[in-house]
Amino acid sequence: MAMETVFAPVPLLHLQGVRKSYNVGMPSEVEVLHGIDLQVQAGEFIALVGPSGSGKSTLLNVLGLLERMDSGSYCLQGRETLGLDDKGLTLLRREQLGFVFQFHHLLPAFTALENVTLPALMIHGEVRAQDKNRATELLQAVGLGKALHKQPSELSGGMQQRVAIARALVQQPSLVLADEPTGNLDTQSSNEVFELLRQIHQEQGTAFVIVTHDPRLAQRCDRLVEIVDGRIAQDKPIQGAA
Ligand code: ADP
Ligand code: MG
Repeated sequence: MAMETVFAPVPLLHLQGVRKSYNVGMPSEVEVLHGIDLQVQAGEFIALVGPSGSGKSTLLNVLGLLERMDSGSYCLQGRETLGLDDKGLTLLRREQLGFVFQFHHLLPAFTALENVTLPALMIHGEVRAQDKNRATELLQAVGLGKALHKQPSELSGGMQQRVAIARALVQQPSLVLADEPTGNLDTQSSNEVFELLRQIHQEQGTAFVIVTHDPRLAQRCDRLVEIVDGRIAQDKPIQGAA
């Protein structure tokens, strides 16, 4: 009989017992995440839901290495992040992660193209021809080929959010973390932005964790993670998603 070894793939993210408090050491100290266990595989498309104040944004910021956990273990592609210094965290964040927030955080005095080439400028100290080409391609892919040189104020809310999505993807992250990316948009723009995320996921295999208040959008993800009072209350596949 042939010997077979089955290798379990290393998860993209693996959190075990992650705890996070705010105002540590002060009378107002409060623990917000009470021991989160979570695994995300490469290419997953996950909705993160839960009541207001339950810890969704805190968890997303911990996943995004924007906030440090207090204890527990968080491995990103098999690499423990707990002991990394700020520089190590920044490098890992730039290599692996993209972010989309409810408010797009585009720089108002910069054009769409300049906003999308900004990560390259920060990483390489200059915008190289290849960076400009990739940013242009991405803006074309999100339907903004004609708006390359427009400033955010000249674009609709949905278009601004699409610029932010292009910016999140420009370094080809393995995971995009989106905190209520459609929370500030009308229904139609919201649908369009969501469809765009789904399309990027399908075409590029990028994993997404999307915080949303909208049950309709959550139902169109592949997996639902619900957090209540800083604990995972539910984690299940969604049937018939997409
Ligand atoms: P959600 O995104 O689910 O609405 P958050 O993660 O923003 O929840 O917040 C969870 C809890 O942590 C809330 O009680 C909130 O008040 C508290 N909190 C969030 N950020 C901070 C902070 N920077 N300092 C102190 N408390 C915070
Ligand atoms: Mg939030």
